Amino acid sequence: VERCLAQGLVGAEGFAVDASLIAADANKQRSVPGAEWEIKDDARRSVQEDLAVLDDAAFGAASPVTPKFISPSDPAAQWTGAHKGHAFFAYATNYLIDTDHGVIVDVEATRAIRQAEVGASRTMIDRTENRFGLKPDYLAADSAYGSADNLAWLVKEKDIAPHIPVFDKSNRTDGTFSRSDFTWEAENDRYICPAGKELKQFHRTYATPRSGITSDGRRLYRASKKDCDGCEIKQRCCPNAVARKVPRDLNEDARDVARAIAATPEYEQSRHRRKKVEMLFAHLKRILRMARLRLRGPCGARDEFLLAATAQNLRRLAKLRPQRSPHGIIAV
Ligand code: SF4
Repeated sequence: VERCLAQGLVGAEGFAVDASLIAADANKQRSVPGAEWEIKDDARRSVQEDLAVLDDAAFGAASPVTPKFISPSDPAAQWTGAHKGHAFFAYATNYLIDTDHGVIVDVEATRAIRQAEVGASRTMIDRTENRFGLKPDYLAADSAYGSADNLAWLVKEKDIAPHIPVFDKSNRTDGTFSRSDFTWEAENDRYICPAGKELKQFHRTYATPRSGITSDGRRLYRASKKDCDGCEIKQRCCPNAVARKVPRDLNEDARDVARAIAATPEYEQSRHRRKKVEMLFAHLKRILRMARLRLRGPCGARDEFLLAATAQNLRRLAKLRPQRSPHGIIAV
């Protein structure tokens, strides 16, 4: 990465992040159901070390889900059916790239679960900033990275523009109005419904002020029963409720930032540039033939992923900045 920086191949205007699954050296035939798995006291030291890494939040400890199968020879490998085809044991290689020339600025191995991949993106952004003093103006990624929590981290803590589709489950499919049909008025802390009525958190003043935050970290905005009772379009809004309620995530403002960016021409450009990271994964598998890991455990995966990414950067460097020796041999 330092060579690429010295050669001016990293502009740091925009980064893109993504993850790809690589099969682990573990077989289904020798696996055990996750619920029956227990670590024996006399387990090999390497196995115990591998399992210790699982407590690392960035590696995927965020998920409390018991995997369906565990491989005793590599218990940190994740049983995953994410490819919609057959399930297999895998690790995820995570790339953070500069979108100018597709230079990989950081790489991280994780379990093949979304929480771990999002955790890795944060680790890599922090590490790249600390190591090279590089922080991008924007980060491009797919909707797996578009949770309110992650968008808030990018917008509020890192001051990085999220060129990321918002992960939003609030869209309704039963024909009634979705949250996007309600207009948010930040200055008045209220929504305006399609009939022009307001939805507020509190319709009266409480002697003891309330936080208004629900146990799942959201605020509820309610229409008044009087407005909904007399509303002509109630059937399209809340046919089975007395009045409409609209929940708002505490980090909805960060989602709004991402939504506004998604409507700009710059977003369209960064969406195309994001494809460079997918091309690197395709190259990794088809040309470098990294379809299955040879080493076991998180450290083995980390080493192989780091070496492969280094090889890809060297190829890029040789292609974009070829240096000819006096004998005509191209050196990097
Ligand atoms: S039912 Fe209530 S919230 Fe829905 S559109 Fe009518 S007045 Fe607005």
